[in-house]
Amino acid sequence: MIGLSIFADYHTHTRHSHGHGTVEDNVRAALDKGLKAIAITDHGPANLFGVGARNLEVFRTIRQEIEVCQSKYPDIRILMGVEANIISIDGSLDVPLDRFHEFDIILAGFHLLVCPSDLPSGMVFARNLLGRYLPKVGNTLRHINTQAIIAALNQNPIDILTHPGLHVNIDTRAIAEACAQRATYMEINTNHDHMEPAYVKIAFEAGARFVIGSDAHQPHRVGDMERGIQLAKTAGIPLTAIHNMNTGQETWI
Ligand SMILES: [Zn+2]
Ligand SMILES: [Zn+2]
Repeated sequence: MIGLSIFADYHTHTRHSHGHGTVEDNVRAALDKGLKAIAITDHGPANLFGVGARNLEVFRTIRQEIEVCQSKYPDIRILMGVEANIISIDGSLDVPLDRFHEFDIILAGFHLLVCPSDLPSGMVFARNLLGRYLPKVGNTLRHINTQAIIAALNQNPIDILTHPGLHVNIDTRAIAEACAQRATYMEINTNHDHMEPAYVKIAFEAGARFVIGSDAHQPHRVGDMERGIQLAKTAGIPLTAIHNMNTGQETWI
């Protein structure tokens, strides 16, 4: 597709958390797709049922594997990141602030199947899970969910907020305003189909800027961005609103 391509995939998983490939598999897939940068962003340790990394020490191993790959594949920039979890309604993450310096890029998302930091937060996660089946229960959580995400944004220097609104009811405009203030990119996620053009349009009008992410859990999906590009086109936002779109003036995260 002429003129509409992505130069970086900042959201990929490996078998260190819930993905199927190795760090090198993802890097090779990114090179095959012509990407100039890739981030390895395995799930933080709070995800339940084996989805998350066993603990934060796993990321030291990932860093070592990235260093090996970086010298083997100098034509691509490889970032070591994490998809951290919001684990409380007051906005704390499962990657504490004093560990942030160990990462090149920090993604954070609101996942429901996580180990909460306290009982009231656990009740909110449970109510969100029930809310999938009981829409009225879900609607009452919109304010709490939104405030939890905004608190996480305000307390942590998050580079990318992943899949906003996936499985949770949120106030997109309020979150987009917080992202704009904190210079946090909102993700257009191509692994899930929950996003509507209206979401992107509302977020853009509130000042947010975007990153399209594959959220690849299998190497062949690394750099799979077409759905996100189409969504952005349908929403009518300018290419310059998407950080990892080739515009001739690319900058790195
Ligand atoms: Zn996620
Ligand atoms: Zn992910």
